[in-house]
This record gives sequence, C-alpha cells and structure tokens, in this order.
Amino acid sequence: GKSLPPNFIKSIILEDIESGRVKEVVTRFPPEPNGYLHIGHAKSICLNFELADEFKGRTHLRFDDTNPLKEDTEYVESIKEDVRWLGFEWEKLFFASDYFDEMYNRAVILIQKGKAYVDELSAEEIRQMRGTLTEPGKESPHRNRSVKENLDLFARMRKGEFKDGEKVLRAKIDMASPNINMRDPVLYRIAHASHHNTGDEWCIYPMYDFAHPLEDAVEGVTHSICTLEFEDHRPLYDWVIEECEMECRPRQYEFARLNLTNTVMSKRWLKKLVDEAIVDGWDDPRMPTISGLRRRGYTPEAIRAFAREIGVAKANSTVDSKMLEHFIREDLKLKAPRTMAVLRPLKVVITNYPEGQVEMLEAENNAENPEMGHRQIPFSREIYIEQDDFMENPPSKYFRLFPGNEVRLKHAYFIKCHDVVKDAEGKIVELHCTYDPATKSGSGFEGRKVKGTIHWVEATQALPAEFRLYEPLILDDTAGEDKPFLERINPNSIEVLQGCVEPNMAEAKGQDKFQFFRHGYFNVDTKQSTSDKKVFNHIVSLKSSFQL
Ligand code: ATP
Ligand code: MG
Ligand code: MG
Repeated sequence: GKSLPPNFIKSIILEDIESGRVKEVVTRFPPEPNGYLHIGHAKSICLNFELADEFKGRTHLRFDDTNPLKEDTEYVESIKEDVRWLGFEWEKLFFASDYFDEMYNRAVILIQKGKAYVDELSAEEIRQMRGTLTEPGKESPHRNRSVKENLDLFARMRKGEFKDGEKVLRAKIDMASPNINMRDPVLYRIAHASHHNTGDEWCIYPMYDFAHPLEDAVEGVTHSICTLEFEDHRPLYDWVIEECEMECRPRQYEFARLNLTNTVMSKRWLKKLVDEAIVDGWDDPRMPTISGLRRRGYTPEAIRAFAREIGVAKANSTVDSKMLEHFIREDLKLKAPRTMAVLRPLKVVITNYPEGQVEMLEAENNAENPEMGHRQIPFSREIYIEQDDFMENPPSKYFRLFPGNEVRLKHAYFIKCHDVVKDAEGKIVELHCTYDPATKSGSGFEGRKVKGTIHWVEATQALPAEFRLYEPLILDDTAGEDKPFLERINPNSIEVLQGCVEPNMAEAKGQDKFQFFRHGYFNVDTKQSTSDKKVFNHIVSLKSSFQL
C-alpha cells in the first residue's frame, strides 16, 4: 500500500533500523476483550499494522485478557472480525492468559531478588499510603518480610488459601519516588473468578502494569505503542522488563488517543448504552463501534483513510466527526450506484398519460463514473414524489412543484401540476399533473427550461422501504456543564420513515450501498431488512461545509 505519512513513531523506527537496534519491526494490537472495538481502536489498529507493513515487519493480535471479571469470548470473536474487516491480518494470535505461568515465574524471580513482597493492606489503605504529588508515600509494615516468607505467601495466594482482597503482591521499588506509579505498585491480586480462557485454574491475576511489558517481551515486540495516559507508566514498564530479566527489550511509545465530537469512546460507557437498551446492541448504526460503523455503511477504506489523515500526535485533541463523514463520502462517490428513493411519499397522477401503459426509461448509474453503466426504470401514469417537493403556497425562489409550475422529473419528463386532492382534514393526499412527451430526458429537448429537478419512483412497481435517519447519539457538552453523558443522550437520534425505492432494488443485498438522489448515501441493513421490506441506514448526507 501507500507509505504512511511521516510521524514521530515512524521516525523512531527508522532510527532504530539504521542504528541496528532493531532488525525486524514487531508491533501488536492488544485489546482487552471486555467490549467491542470502537473508532479509537481503529486508529491504533491502523497505526500498528501499517507501521509494521511499511517496514516489512509483523503485527500480533493479542488479547490482553488478564481481568477475568469483565472479559468474554463474544468480545474475542467480535474483535477478530473487526480487525479482519478493516483489512488487516495478524501474523500471530496470542492470549495474555496463555502466559500466566510465565508471569507467575517472573514474579517469583522478583521475590527471590527482594524486589517484590506480599502485602495485606486493603486496597484503600494502599491507596492512602501511596501519597500524593507533593507528599511521599508511607511504607507498608509488611514491606520487609523475608524472601522465604514472601515465597510461601505468594504460593499460598496461588493455591487459593486467601479470599479476594486479603493479600496482594507488590513491587518493592521506591515509596518516595516522584512518580507515583513507582511507589510499590500492585503486581498481583486475588480474584476467585472463572476466566474465559483458563477457567478456574487461577485465582490470582496480574495487573496491567506487570503483565503488559512481559507480554510484549515474550512475543518479541519491538515497538509497543499505547495511548498518552501510559506515559507516566513507562518507567515501570522498563523496570518490569529489566528486573524480570527478560531477554527481549521492547520499548513503549505513547501517542494521543482519538477523541471525536459528539462521541463517547470508552467501552465502559458504550457497554452502558447496550446494557440499558438505549441502543440496539453494540452494532447499532449510531454507535462509534467498528461494528456500528459497518452496519451504518462505513467502509474499511474510509476508516483507514480517516486514520491516516488524523495521523499521530503527542498532544490530545478532539477531531470533528465531520472529518470521518468526509471520508465515507469520498469513498462512495464513485463506487455507489445512484438511484431514486422517496422517503416521504406523495402520489402524483399524470392525467394525460395513457392508463395501463408502462414505459422503461434509461438512467445512468453514476453520473461521475460512466463505467457503472445504465439501468432501466419504469415510468407510468402514477408515481410518488417527496412530500416536500410540493408546496401549495410556495415562497418566492421555491422552484419545485406548485400549482401551475413545471419541473423536470429526473431521467423522465417535465410535469406541471394542475390539481391538488385533499382529504376531509385538508391534508394533501394526491396531485394531478400533466406531462409533456416532447421533454423526455435525453431527447435533446430545448423548447423551454425549468428551474427544478425532482426525483420520483413509479408507483405500481415501487418497492416498500424503511429509511432510518440518524443524528448524533450524544450531544456535545457545549455549555461546559460537565453533565454525565447519560444525560446528554439525544432523544431524537433516530427517525424512521416508510417510503419506497425503485424496483431494481429488489436485488440489493445486505451492506450494499447507494446514493439516493438528493438524499445522500444509504446502506442496506443486514439485521432488519426482510424479504418484503428493505431497511436502509442513512450513512451520510451528500454535502457538508467540512473542508480538509
Ligand atoms: P477504552 O478506554 O475505550 O475501554 P482501552 O484503552 O481500555 O479503551 P483496550 O482494549 O485496552 O481499550 O485498547 C486496545 C488498544 O487500543 C490500546 O493499545 C489502546 O491504547 C488503543 N486505544 C483505545 N482507545 C483508543 C483511542 N481512543 N484512540 C487511540 N487508541 C486507542
Ligand atoms: Mg479498558
Ligand atoms: Mg486498556
């Protein structure tokens, strides 16, 4: 593929290769299987895989499954599917839980060296005694147990002799360190819980800061890329690798996580939306998950192009979600067939068109991409147009249909409205128009001009369709009120419309994408379309003021 735009991690890798520190670049994407992946993860996936690809290295997919309480195989499967869908194939697949023995043995090495001890303070006491930025921590009364006693207690922790929270294993580093992460961090905790991979084999589990560097080292990762909040953990990362005597010396680099406007990007909160049934599962088209974006109609190409464009920085910022929309619009512009759909139908009878006659008209499939060819669409005496393409009493500058006015029907004829049919309540239910056969599209008619072109669908062959229009699920906290996000949920994030599409759409399959003339891009919903009625998810409108 194309080479990655320059960034600071790429420069570091280049130097590492030139200096000979690194022979083969090995990166990893290390999700915790406690939820579905989101667009922020996509940024990390693209970065890790594309960096390795660029230097002909390799990337591992590693499940960082060291916390039995939140993890599940459903998440494991969804993560694999999403990474593959983005277009990446891992060199090797690992589960951190496969190294539990290795990690345990490394912890024993630390104890033997006097670099780790079993503590029995409560989590709260440990937190309080850890001190603050301005105040050093206090040493635990158990800090100076003998190696022998520590080895014995740690073995008994493993055997299950203690309850959750009764004991922990801590690194013995420096309670006065200016970096709080170095003040004897917890390495192992007790959790009598069944693990999705190891079952009931273990009742002690390693903490992230201990497990992650060991996982990287075991796998021979050279560049361990993570988000900025781990910058202060880097000394501990290096300490673990060094003191556990790992042969391989991976290095950690931090980059800014992706934040998007109007978007909640933490698995914890996304899970809440799912659990409280505020959305229709992790793949609800309003979700910023990869599966949600896929169901909405985003393509891997668009997401990858977006990830490249946002690049990698050392400072956190928030990206406008309009930028993501820009890339799907760009990707679909030449790929998606352009057809006509009526979202809010209003029937039109063309009174001078012969009853019972249906003619086929030729329509191009993509005006900007002639290679997509043409299709035939029916036309007859009865058609549907959009309700808001007609006004009985229009303001000036309204160029669509109104009594006495003539407009072009896309791919068809000029029609002129002469009668408005209303029901008992005065609601417009039908229009009566005449057409002019001389104005057929493609006939070269030059006799007169009209100012408006509207779309339509022939009524007798129209297929019923459901359209789902979306607005952001979460409203931005523009007032800076720090409102909890569940109070920022947009009550109008979805609008469901019943309309119709051209008969040739009968062949459309789940995930097929179309540009509906004047309405923008839509995707066929795989989950909720039926053989009688397709459901179309609105991906994005046609235009936006967004500029790259
Ligand atoms: P969350 O906070 O959403 O639960 P996480 O960081 O806990 O995310 P992990 O499964 O641990 O989720 O993440 C796997 C990888 O994805 C990590 O390397 C992490 O740095 C990266 N990542 C997660 N969120 C983002 C983001 N918003 N932008 C860029 N990378 C991210
Ligand atoms: Mg997490
Ligand atoms: Mg994490």
